[in-house]
Amino acid sequence: MPELDPADQRAFALEVAETLRAAGYEALWAGGCVRDQLLGRTPKDYDVATNAQPQTIRQVFGRERTIAVGAAFGVIAVVGPKTAGLVEVTTFREDAQYSDGRRPDSVTFSTAEHDAQRRDFTINGLFYDPLAQRVIDYVGGQEDLRGQTVRAIGDARRRFSEDKLRLLRAVRFAATFQFSIEAETLAAVGEMAAELPVVSPERIAAEMRRMLVDGHRVRAVELLAETGLMPVIAPEIAAIYANGWEKSAWEETLAAAGRLACPDFPLALAALCHRLAPADIHTLARRWKLSNHERELAAWLVEQLPTVRRAAELPWPVLQRLLIAVHIEPLLELLEAVEGEAHAGLRLCRERLAWPIAKLNPPPLVTGDDLIAHGLPPGKNFRTILDQVRDAQLEGKLTTQAEALALAKQLAN
Ligand code: ATP
Ligand code: MG
Repeated sequence: MPELDPADQRAFALEVAETLRAAGYEALWAGGCVRDQLLGRTPKDYDVATNAQPQTIRQVFGRERTIAVGAAFGVIAVVGPKTAGLVEVTTFREDAQYSDGRRPDSVTFSTAEHDAQRRDFTINGLFYDPLAQRVIDYVGGQEDLRGQTVRAIGDARRRFSEDKLRLLRAVRFAATFQFSIEAETLAAVGEMAAELPVVSPERIAAEMRRMLVDGHRVRAVELLAETGLMPVIAPEIAAIYANGWEKSAWEETLAAAGRLACPDFPLALAALCHRLAPADIHTLARRWKLSNHERELAAWLVEQLPTVRRAAELPWPVLQRLLIAVHIEPLLELLEAVEGEAHAGLRLCRERLAWPIAKLNPPPLVTGDDLIAHGLPPGKNFRTILDQVRDAQLEGKLTTQAEALALAKQLAN
């Protein structure tokens, strides 16, 4: 995948709008890209809304340059130059009734104004005419951007009952932009929190991923707790601030999560769950349908934390094995987040990790093959013997293969 270039993305999004206009249709940038531009952020991607219907959009750009992405709702992606990516073009629409709490039963092609009204929050309901360079605002989105407010478009309760994913999106936008949630909208999130599970675990996890890797993850977690969404998505985490735990446990959890610089998702999750039993993390991760990698890494980090915390007291062979583990870096980041950078164990680990590899992880003096070649039959204590010889080597008690073989034979008898 070539890198996307923001200037090329933007130029291509302009070209898409121009092409539709030249063909006689309305074409406006819509939603997130307009919001991001007004916030002075670089849009991740551009969406174009138009009164042209999906088949027409494909004709205007040519079938070979378009992909029908949102089959059900007629979303057409137009393929741009390599560094410009895709622009999604969507016909202005209004959504019919929602009966599953997540997606409209059907959509009807409509006008720009109705298309603004079916969007979730006022800050996401803006259009921009890139030819006239003019914002088109049917929902009061500009005022809410200025006031840094996440406000549902229309009746908040109704909008959340249509699509419960919006409950989490409200929290994500408020946290990542450091906006407040308007009072009615916030009250509705609280009232409807228990209904979130109609949303698929994958979509919940995708929102959690974005919230937790973001620099404002603490705000996101606090909002999830305040709105009552946390007990619904992660009762294990909610238990930390609910009954039975001391108040400081929650404060310390938030502080640790907040100290992470640019964590990936498993590390951020581990920080949030570092006081839980690894089994709870497996339960949580299975509920969210995380990948095995994410689940196992998050659980491993939490499981190893008590050990690495005692780094300064550990026998060197034990610490050495941890320091050569594949995921030692995120483990040390977790330790630093929990204990602070002055922690003696953390300093020791960092110091040792800077050792030349030949010293940190010297090649073993004997291998299993060496033992077999010297007449030691592979058996059930083979591994233990090798480990003990390795420990002695790391401790500096052995320096030659002859000494190592002698110890192995002695242990075997
Ligand atoms: P980001 O991409 O940063 O998450 P975004 O606002 O672009 O933010 P998308 O999920 O890409 O979010 O959606 C694009 C636009 O589609 C939104 O700005 C919003 O107008 C509309 N939208 C997306 N999801 C919903 C939803 N669940 N309900 C109503 N409107 C939505
Ligand atoms: Mg987007």
